[in-house]
Amino acid sequence: MEIQIYGKAVLSKVAGPVDTITPELLATLEEMVPLMKESRGVGLAGPQVGISKRFFVMDAGDKVRKVINPEILKFGNALIEMEEGCLSVPGIHKSVRRPRRITVRYMNDAGEKTEEELKDYPARVFQHEYDHLDGILFVDRISPIAKRIIAKQLEDLKNKEA
Ligand SMILES: [Zn+2]
Repeated sequence: MEIQIYGKAVLSKVAGPVDTITPELLATLEEMVPLMKESRGVGLAGPQVGISKRFFVMDAGDKVRKVINPEILKFGNALIEMEEGCLSVPGIHKSVRRPRRITVRYMNDAGEKTEEELKDYPARVFQHEYDHLDGILFVDRISPIAKRIIAKQLEDLKNKEA
């Protein structure tokens, strides 16, 4: 299992739903948690390991979540800025504005439907990972000026991978 880096097509594709929780999927989720931690990440989504399906793992400091077919049911009105990075965009950290609170629903690895209200850091990580499933990276959500500043770095990442 290898982390896909900026420029890889799989990172900008909308991922398809998980139809059934197979032993392969469970094994993949199981493998993604240590990969995420060893890489010093707080989240890792299917497309980031080359699998265009709607699942991710995250650990925002409260607990490890294995998330399948997530939905964001509600976004709070309050927006906050927080610096983000991404294992698929190494070396780049930028401030991103997102809702502080969200209400989410997903299936966990036991196949149970889970509904949670998240705020602050867990809400942040969940939204970042959820974006990966829609082919969106955090650098797609920064201001045009910020994007211009890192344009060269992004280009270098893309060329290194090509
Ligand atoms: Zn990411």
